[in-house]
Amino acid sequence: MSHSKAATIFNKDEKKVNWHDKALWFVRHKRDKSAHSVKGWEELRNLGHGIKAHTLSNLDTYLIQFEENAIKNGVQVHWAADADEHNKIVQSILKAHNAKKVVKSKSMLTEECHLNPFLEANDIEVIDTDLGERIVQLAKEPPSHIVLPAIHKKKEEVDVLFQEHLGTKPCDGDPQYLTGEARKHLREKFIQADAAITGVNFAVADTGGFVVCTNEGNADMGVHLAPVHIACMGIEKLIPKQEHLGVFLRLLGRSATGQHITTYSSHFKKPRNGAKMHIVIVDNGRTEQLSRPDFRASLHCIRCGACMNTCPIYRRSGGHSYDSTIPGPIGSILSPGKDLKKHSTLPFASTLCGSCSDVCPVKIDIHTQLYKWRQIITKETPQPFIKKTSMKMMGNIFSKPSQFDKVGKVARWSLRNLPKGMINSKPNVWGKARDLPLGPKESFEDWYKKRNKDEQ
Ligand code: SF4
Repeated sequence: MSHSKAATIFNKDEKKVNWHDKALWFVRHKRDKSAHSVKGWEELRNLGHGIKAHTLSNLDTYLIQFEENAIKNGVQVHWAADADEHNKIVQSILKAHNAKKVVKSKSMLTEECHLNPFLEANDIEVIDTDLGERIVQLAKEPPSHIVLPAIHKKKEEVDVLFQEHLGTKPCDGDPQYLTGEARKHLREKFIQADAAITGVNFAVADTGGFVVCTNEGNADMGVHLAPVHIACMGIEKLIPKQEHLGVFLRLLGRSATGQHITTYSSHFKKPRNGAKMHIVIVDNGRTEQLSRPDFRASLHCIRCGACMNTCPIYRRSGGHSYDSTIPGPIGSILSPGKDLKKHSTLPFASTLCGSCSDVCPVKIDIHTQLYKWRQIITKETPQPFIKKTSMKMMGNIFSKPSQFDKVGKVARWSLRNLPKGMINSKPNVWGKARDLPLGPKESFEDWYKKRNKDEQ
């Protein structure tokens, strides 16, 4: 389904759309306040961008350095070329430890690899322990946002969901009660777990350690109780040195939710006594994206979600309309690189206003990359007949000033004189949800010439 069709479904509930829009704009505001409170914020962004660009240019060296140091720390390192290999490696580790119950903290990589359904099909219970993730897991839905996975759900909906799955009492969506019940439910799961799976926010090449950021402490709880820790990371999560962490941790928390730092920014280096630690390093299309000069900077992403919170299209179409693990502006750059045909409508789900690039903490030129994908997609995939012919026609009109004048005159007259029903007819999709403005009596050119004449 195209993005616009999926967005139409989300747009049916106008009240909810307005609420979703407002909720994300609130987070964007918090980000602005927090970013503006840092002197040298722009320098910090430049630094983040530079470190990521340098790391990606020397990725082979840093990956090997990271692996060597992690092994020295007593960690077992595994390499996966794709999602399938990643899932099989995780399954084999769990099998080796006879682990049947797993707790998992938020990891977009494991979502991307569809690890949960794979493990469940192999008789392994996987419980997502981030509250938002658990909500969408119970609802059998994918996350709709990378930082706020259940942002599309109102608290009243969570109330009903918890009654059905956790046996809670009706509470009119009381967040305190619901959170308390979720905590009790998850505590049991933590205690019973045979293994804990986490993502990785930053992996440090010169120490072999890594950092996992959560606001609920669920990653720490899982890892500290279970005898086996499996950390899954994409190859782009590397940074060269421990001292670089300060740059990214400051950028991440502020850009994601406006916090000065994510509440639990936990450093892991080696397994505790008697426990095991594994790291699975995954490519799954990243090397290919790295080989595309126009799009390699998309791998700088630290998954803060700021580009989603600010995007007018994301806010009013919802994360599920992107039909992709990573939605929003950054997802619209990453997804076509994986499957151009399936995700060919995503780069068009943007106003190209550039707000995403303005807030991105690592200065990814998101809107420029979206524009570049559009050019590739237009050449490489079949375009709808109406779009193709109307764009050709517009190209002709815009390239000939005399024609442009004539068409402008007709358009201005039509907007002023034709009945609304004719203007907002079926081919005019713009008119589906809004009125076109009343046409001016004269063109800008006519007005400008007249003004100059009067002044002379
Ligand atoms: S592209 Fe930039 S703004 Fe968007 S999630 Fe990634 S780091 Fe954040």
